[in-house]
Amino acid sequence: MAGKRKPKDTEERCPRTDPEAETLCEPGTHSERLYYPEVPPDEWHPKKRIEKMREAGADRFEIEAAEYDYAEGDITHGKQLSRGLTPQEEGHGQSQMILAVCTVCRQKREIDQAPSPDRLVEAKDQEARFGGTNQIRNNRRMAEQNRDVTYKIPESQLHQRRTDTLREFARVVGIPSKS
Ligand SMILES: [Zn+2]
Repeated sequence: MAGKRKPKDTEERCPRTDPEAETLCEPGTHSERLYYPEVPPDEWHPKKRIEKMREAGADRFEIEAAEYDYAEGDITHGKQLSRGLTPQEEGHGQSQMILAVCTVCRQKREIDQAPSPDRLVEAKDQEARFGGTNQIRNNRRMAEQNRDVTYKIPESQLHQRRTDTLREFARVVGIPSKS
């Protein structure tokens, strides 16, 4: 049959005004994959990476956890550690964070450490800043998808009640304080 084909009403011809916001998955329902940052060769050694974390103003506990994990042999390459940008890099440097990216809605979030793409580690001093409910939901989801999820927290906080919430889906490891 001749004639031009008319677009059906149901066909979407125009981009929505804010497609990202409209199509984000609910927290805890993402399908995330981990991506390593492109790490400069002089930070491939974890010790050098930790030095840069310090330069970039990482918090004290995050650095202590990274040092501990390097000493334990859990961290063997700089890319397994996220860091912010140093003052010199600010504005033009490429992000040095490990990202969890949702393959469905493309939402990105930062992960503190990833010994492998199937193992994510959050280093959290729970007194200073706790990841918040959405982070817990998203990490719980990762655990349900057979990822190994670990929280490293100060040893002194191991017996706090809110740690029990983490234990429901994650391994919780205490980092001894150096001071
Ligand atoms: Zn998503």
